[in-house]
Amino acid sequence: MEHIDPAVVKRFDTRSSRPCEFCRELDPHFPNRRPLDQMVASTRKAVASSHLTEDGYVRHRILELRKMSVRAPLTAA
Ligand SMILES: [Zn+2]
Repeated sequence: MEHIDPAVVKRFDTRSSRPCEFCRELDPHFPNRRPLDQMVASTRKAVASSHLTEDGYVRHRILELRKMSVRAPLTAA
């Protein structure tokens, strides 16, 4: 039978946070992040400012910038 430690649930509230879809899709190192760096607030969109941690925010921004530079290959020359 599964047992979930209430203390863990409280510290890592999955009801108010979820993994960022954007980062999960675009970051190959996403599973290597600290769990909190993967999470965004569940009531928010999957945008950088929804991340719960500074590190998560920064990584999200880096992915956004990388995606933009792929879409607009003006620097390819
Ligand atoms: Zn993200």
